[in-house]
Amino acid sequence: KKFDSAEIMAGIRNNTLFSWNPSEVAANKALIMEQGDGVYFYDTNGKKYIDFNSQAMCSNLGHTVPEEVLKAVDQQLRTAAYAYPCSIVTPVKAKLSMLLADLLPGDLNYFYYTSGGAESNETAMRMARLFTGRHKILARYRSYHGATLGAMTLTGDPRRWNSEPGASGVVHFMDPYPLSFKWGENEEEITKASLQYLREVISYEGGKNIAAIFIESVTGTNGILRPPKGYLEGLRKICDENGILMVCDEVMNGFGRTGEMFGFQNSDGVIPDIVTMAKGINGAFLPLGAVACRDHIAQHFKKNPIGIGSTYNSHPVTLASAYASLQYMLKNNVLGNVKAMEPVLKECLADLQKRHPTVKGFRAMGLFGTVELQKNSKGDPFIPYNGPPHPAITQLQEEFVKSGIYTLFRWSSFFTNPPLIINEKELRTTFATIDKLLLNLDKHFEK
Ligand code: PLP
Repeated sequence: KKFDSAEIMAGIRNNTLFSWNPSEVAANKALIMEQGDGVYFYDTNGKKYIDFNSQAMCSNLGHTVPEEVLKAVDQQLRTAAYAYPCSIVTPVKAKLSMLLADLLPGDLNYFYYTSGGAESNETAMRMARLFTGRHKILARYRSYHGATLGAMTLTGDPRRWNSEPGASGVVHFMDPYPLSFKWGENEEEITKASLQYLREVISYEGGKNIAAIFIESVTGTNGILRPPKGYLEGLRKICDENGILMVCDEVMNGFGRTGEMFGFQNSDGVIPDIVTMAKGINGAFLPLGAVACRDHIAQHFKKNPIGIGSTYNSHPVTLASAYASLQYMLKNNVLGNVKAMEPVLKECLADLQKRHPTVKGFRAMGLFGTVELQKNSKGDPFIPYNGPPHPAITQLQEEFVKSGIYTLFRWSSFFTNPPLIINEKELRTTFATIDKLLLNLDKHFEK
């Protein structure tokens, strides 16, 4: 029997709980996805939405599963549906690992598979501690690293607060873009001062006590923040000088989102020691994460236990979905599409800024974008960092939904992160709608 929307929502309200928000609040806002189609999805009543956030910035190949991926998953289920990762290996595990070793630069040649991003970061924390024999880990305030205990403790934004006191040994520091002041007036000054401050944090904590520094190479939900020129290079140097492992969380920006295969490749050849991945590795068609490490770290774990494991590590069906999805990405030059669409995205965002006083600015790279909204000419946000809802933003959010645009709002900003397969017409049409919706928000602007 096909459920109508009332039956679906009754089942959801009466028998499920939501992540992050109070479940009643989340249920009242939830959209129903009955059918996905390319960059769109449809609800039970046939209402069409464009997915302007790729769900959780993860449905990078959209909502139509490529035939090759369907076939690969089907074939894997029919041949070897599950294998115990501790003692059984599968052909697809070898194939995917060889492909990833080709895709990742330098000697990031070894892979450990997980069920998602948080678990990848959790694994990387363990690896860094075991490899270095050190306890402390540095991570940044403007960051999100996942919802398991360790990953939640790494996380710097308020999502961490409900999990406190969390895991021991994590110390937070500020990135190049603090909220209320600037490290400098240009990229060079910002890089120099923020790295000098990081050196000072390391002195206070004791370099010899620090196993790893975790960063999102391009910060995701905390504002699409591209590191200033020289920052990743400087961070690499600081890590090398102190024997600290550099861990790049590529869960969100990996596999093409920023216009490069990996976010850290928007640097001058920086190679992290460990890279954590999930989401785009298989367009989120099945739950999968991975941790890549460099040869010298892998050599350690060839001789010493990695001290972690799980039933679903290296699940052959998820690996098959990743192998086929990555082949699809390469064959269809999805990265080329991101590079081609980047100027269109930036042009559309710049137009919004020109036309709307409420648009304070935007940040974008690849198909990773965010729009910052302001309520007055002083540049005050409608909603400050972690502030309460503002009726004008609530109304705007409702209008996005009514107009068939699904995206993520966070405080005074909204995101523009469509699937990486979007075309120019789909981008421009969506921005034309957003342009109209912002005219209403502009009525709330105080000169
Ligand atoms: N790291 C980053 C940068 C993320 O954006 C996310 C999820 O949004 C995670 C880690 C956690 O991944 P998961 O939700 O698959 O556990």
